[in-house]
Amino acid sequence: MKRLHIKNGHLIDPKNKINGKFDVVCENGVVIDVLKPGQKVADAEVIDATGLVVSPGFVDLHTHLREPGFEYKETIESGTRAAAKGGFTSICAMANTNPVNDAASVTEFIIKQAKTKGIVNVFPIGALTKGLKGKELAPIGELKRAGCVALSDDGKCVENPLLMRVAMEYAKSFDIPVITHSVDQCLSAGGVMNEGKVSARLGLPGIPHEAEDIMIARDIYLAGLTGARLHIGHVATCGGVEAIERAKKKGLPVTGEVTPHHFTLTDEAVIGYRTEAKMAPPLRENHDIKALVQGLADGTIDAIATDHAPHSVLEKEVEFERAECGIIGLETALSLSIKLIDNKKITLEKIIATLTHQPAQIVALKKGSLEKGADADITIFDPEREYVIDENTFCSKSSNSPFMGMKVKGVVTHTLVAGKVVYSL
Ligand SMILES: [Zn+2]
Repeated sequence: MKRLHIKNGHLIDPKNKINGKFDVVCENGVVIDVLKPGQKVADAEVIDATGLVVSPGFVDLHTHLREPGFEYKETIESGTRAAAKGGFTSICAMANTNPVNDAASVTEFIIKQAKTKGIVNVFPIGALTKGLKGKELAPIGELKRAGCVALSDDGKCVENPLLMRVAMEYAKSFDIPVITHSVDQCLSAGGVMNEGKVSARLGLPGIPHEAEDIMIARDIYLAGLTGARLHIGHVATCGGVEAIERAKKKGLPVTGEVTPHHFTLTDEAVIGYRTEAKMAPPLRENHDIKALVQGLADGTIDAIATDHAPHSVLEKEVEFERAECGIIGLETALSLSIKLIDNKKITLEKIIATLTHQPAQIVALKKGSLEKGADADITIFDPEREYVIDENTFCSKSSNSPFMGMKVKGVVTHTLVAGKVVYSL
């Protein structure tokens, strides 16, 4: 493959503590040099990144690709195109497909489809329990051998604490992390949004913060008991952030992620019975957003993850109580994260860290940094360029998002996977 010279950009590579003007040279899918600008590179194709930020490709720990089984919402092909447009070069695919990814045959199918139809790296996540039913363990060793990088019943919580303990013991022995979906099903039963003033006003049944906090605390205790690596999916409450902070202080192998929608919107987005704002866990309140952003800034929260959850119009344009939960997120994650910088809550370098090497480390991927010899997975973007979020421009098959029409900043101009441009503006 031809040499590629990305020049005149502002390189931000938090893992290697690089934040300045540097050129990147790639060949045969890897980074072969990081140079001071102005140096000649012979026989190279050039990408001029003047005025742009060059960063390691983004890594998403939480993508619902919907294939197999729900191809009308998304396919591996459309989902990876959405990822590339959003600057994501590696995405971890959640297990709640149909059939559920609880057997090597399903994992192998996803890997094969990703190789033939996908344009970014896809890393499957296996189920913790068979069929996500919370009754019987999935074959954890088999899933790991087939290529799963983590285990999760995401969308559901493993209610039985004994089963969760055993799952974590197996996960520990196979050295694979467990990603949680934290909600106490009994305490949240019937709830469709955050329990508070807004739910009371709308007359919708609520889910208290504690439904999430209790399960996060339980799983952290089980991580202490088993020594398993525990990653808390889509943290949405201040109580959840506090619990992770305590776990880290104790030296437990616990990490956490937040989604752009949880740090951008409160439960007021539901007013008008807007089903685009129905999420699991639900959008919470201002003090929660403050804690989530503080957690990202101080390192309590390790990753920004999209929880990209495509749904068709038929599943969203119904009564609030019947609507499916979740929004698409791959194509808006960067812009919503950049809003935090504009509000002076966090730096661009920190945002990039939480989108690159920090998530990569959680699932033990050698991704998310651009030193010599690293995979040439690279995202180039203009952090200042403004645009209006518009469903007609989405690559995802679905367009369920509460952010349509919002004016934001941050446009990906090039996405490279293994040195190959898979998306360009
Ligand atoms: Zn999810």
